Amino acid sequence: MRTFLIAGNWKMNAAPGAAKKLAEDIAAKWKEESFHSEALLCPPFISIPAVAAAFEGTQFKVGAQNVHTENDGAYTGEISTSMLKDAGCEYVIVGHSERREYFHESDELVAQKTKKVIDDGLKPIVCVGEVLSERKEGIHQEVVKRQVDAVLTHLGNDESDTLVIAYEPVWAIGTGETATPQQAQEMHQFIRDLITQHWGETSSEKVRILYGGSMKPDNAGELLSQKDVDGGLIGGASLSAGSYSEILKISETI
Ligand code: PEP
Repeated sequence: MRTFLIAGNWKMNAAPGAAKKLAEDIAAKWKEESFHSEALLCPPFISIPAVAAAFEGTQFKVGAQNVHTENDGAYTGEISTSMLKDAGCEYVIVGHSERREYFHESDELVAQKTKKVIDDGLKPIVCVGEVLSERKEGIHQEVVKRQVDAVLTHLGNDESDTLVIAYEPVWAIGTGETATPQQAQEMHQFIRDLITQHWGETSSEKVRILYGGSMKPDNAGELLSQKDVDGGLIGGASLSAGSYSEILKISETI
């Protein structure tokens, strides 16, 4: 059985003071209760230490939203895996659609970052997903196959325990529009079949595939109940301690 991963992506929101408060509010909701899902919040880089400190002694984990492929050196504005580990991160989101679109991250770069993250002992959450025009054209599976293949060819099947893929239809991110549970399951199964083709079934059954795109307390139950949906990557709703905790609570009931 795969353990649900309920991951929040705070994007460019929550400076250290606000992030500390939000993390404390989330942790406070679980003061009396433990959970079986894995719970992760990914603040902006500068807020990672504050969130890591707020989560100390709790089950909540901290991750980052991006990383560079080099260890150190003249890469102004970038951050390395060792810096993230030092600050308390366990996971890194890689290839979010906003990075692919606004920062021109290619499939190849996303694959290199994923490999670097795993080699250096962190866990990647690799985002894949089609834009609206690609879904309308009916080439959504082709697009996701290209993105997933690029990553899998850089890795080996012994990395199936560590690799997390997030299917995020770009048309559903921050739009309030969600993929139907059937659309999500169809793509998640397609991704798992692709992994099986690369690594075999035993390994593909270990890889967690998250759904992302306007997940909220009112749609989380149906989405998380799908056979191949192993958690959520949550943007907007993770900025509310109540909504994030509600989704975590829902995952505990499935
Ligand atoms: C995201 O940023 O990965 C995301 C899914 O955002 P939202 O939940 O706001 O659509």
